[in-house]
Amino acid sequence: MRTLIVSDIHSNVVALDAVLADARADGPIERVWCLGDVVGYGPEPMACIERLWDLDATVISGNHDAVAVGRIDLAEFNGPAAEAARWNGAQLSAEARRYLSALPETVVEAPFTLVHGTPRDPLWEYLTGGAQAEQAWGAIPTPHVIVGHSHFQFTCSRSGGLEQAGPGGRVVRTDGDRLAANPGSVGQPRDGDPRAAYAVFDDEAATLALRRAPYDVAATQAAMIDAGLPLPLIERLALGR
Ligand code: ZN
Repeated sequence: MRTLIVSDIHSNVVALDAVLADARADGPIERVWCLGDVVGYGPEPMACIERLWDLDATVISGNHDAVAVGRIDLAEFNGPAAEAARWNGAQLSAEARRYLSALPETVVEAPFTLVHGTPRDPLWEYLTGGAQAEQAWGAIPTPHVIVGHSHFQFTCSRSGGLEQAGPGGRVVRTDGDRLAANPGSVGQPRDGDPRAAYAVFDDEAATLALRRAPYDVAATQAAMIDAGLPLPLIERLALGR
C-alpha cells in the first residue's frame, strides 16, 4: 500500500494537484497523511481543505491552521504571515472552521507518529537535528516520527544524522534504523528548490521516498496577486525560500 505524505500545503492548490498527479503517475495512492499547515500564506485555502476531504486524508493541526481559526493568537506571527493568516481565516466556511478547529495535534499511524513540530511541542518547535530527533524518539510509541513545519525536506537517523533530500530526492528504508523525516513543503518550499515537496511511504517495500514535483508557480502567484496577498510571500515561491 502506498501512502502519500504531504505537509505545509499553505493554500497552494496548484502545487497540491501537481503532487497528487506526480505521486499517482507511479501507481495508486491508497492513503493520504497531511502534517498540518493546510492554510496560511497562499491564495486557495478552501480548495486545499476540500481536496483533503475528497481524499479522506488523515490531517493533523499546524500552527497556521490553529491561527486561522483563532485557536492561537495572531500576535504570534510577523507582518506578512499575520496579514495572510487574517485573509485565509476570512475565506473559510463554517464547516471548514469547525474542521480545522477539531484537528488533532498528534496521530499514530504505525510505524510512524505524525506531528507538525515535535512531540513535546506539536505546533511550534522545529525538528532540525539529531538532538531533537533523539528527544522525539524517546517520546513516541512508534519507531519513526514524521514532521513538517520547517519546510525543509530531510531524513534523520541515528547512524546517518540529518540528511537533506537534495534535488534528486532520497529513498530510505523503514525497517531498520529509527527515522525522523520531513516530507518538505508542498506549497512554500524553503530549501532553494521551488518545486513542491512530498513523500511516499510504501509499506510492502518498506521504503520512504522523498520526492519533488514541478508545478505552475506563476499560476499560484497570479492568484495571490488577485487576492491582494503580501508581495514578499508571492516573490518567495519562485525562489523556494
Ligand atoms: Zn508551514
